[in-house]
Amino acid sequence: MPDLLEVKNVTRKFGGVVANKGVSFSFESGKVIGLIGPNGAGKSTLFNMVSAIFPPTEGEIWFAGKRIDRLPAFKVSPLGIARTFQNLQVFKRMTVLENVMVGLHTSTSSGILSAAFKLPKAKKEEETIYQQAWEEIEFVGLEDVAAVEAGSLPLGKLRLLELARALATKPQLLLLDEIAAGLNHQETAEMSDLIFKVRDRGVSIFVVEHDMDLVMRVSDRIIVLDQGEKIAEGTPNEVQNDPRVIEAYLGN
Ligand code: ADP
Ligand code: MG
Repeated sequence: MPDLLEVKNVTRKFGGVVANKGVSFSFESGKVIGLIGPNGAGKSTLFNMVSAIFPPTEGEIWFAGKRIDRLPAFKVSPLGIARTFQNLQVFKRMTVLENVMVGLHTSTSSGILSAAFKLPKAKKEEETIYQQAWEEIEFVGLEDVAAVEAGSLPLGKLRLLELARALATKPQLLLLDEIAAGLNHQETAEMSDLIFKVRDRGVSIFVVEHDMDLVMRVSDRIIVLDQGEKIAEGTPNEVQNDPRVIEAYLGN
C-alpha cells in the first residue's frame, strides 16, 4: 500500500519569495497529522498545493499512489481530498442545509443546471444529496440551525458548517486550515472531539492550527515548517522538546 500522501522535495516560489523549500514528508491512512510553524512559514502554501489550488514550482505530490501535482483542483477533489479554509467560504444568503448541498451538486453527473430544471435523473440525485448533506449536518450537530441563513450564524457554527460541507464529499483526506481560529475554549474542546470522531470514521486529517493545545492533543505526528523549510517531524512530545522548534518560535 502506498502512503496516503507523499510530498517529495516540494518548492514553491512567488517571485523572489520562497514559500516552501525542498519539503518532503509522507504519512499513512488513518492518522491525524499536524502542520505547525510560525507565521509565514509556508503552511497555507503547502495546503494550497495539496488541494491543487496551484502547483509546486518543483517537486511532486502523490495521493494514494497517484501523482496529483499537475492536476487541476476539480480533478483532485473527486479523488478524495477535501478542505476547509482559514477565511470562511460559506454562502451567507443560503441556509446551512443549502450550503452543504451546493458543494455536492458540483460532484454529481447531472450537475446543478439539470437539478434546477428538475430532470428525473437529477431528482434522484437531489434526494441522495439531501440525505448526504443531512447526515453531515447531524454529525457536526447543526440540525437545529439547518434552515437558518448562514450569514446569521456565529463563528463557531460557521466553522462547523465548513466541516460538514467538506465531510459531505466523503473525503479520504481532510485538510483543516485553522479550523479553531476565533473559537472560545469550549468550542475548541468540542472541535477536537469532532476531529477524533472524523478520524474514527477512517478519514485521515491534516491540520494547520495555531492553537498549540489543540494540535498537540489531536495529532499523532507533527511536521514543523520554518521559513519554508521542514525543520522537524515527530510525535507531539518530540517536536515540543526539539531545540530547533523552540528556537523557531522564540525567534519570531
Ligand atoms: P503560513 O500559512 O505558514 O503563515 P503562507 O504559506 O501563507 O504561510 O506564506 C508563506 C510565504 O509565502 C509568505 O512570505 C507569504 O507572504 C508568501 N505567499 C503566500 N502566498 C502567496 C501568494 N499567493 N503570492 C505571493 N506570496 C505568497
Ligand atoms: Mg496560513
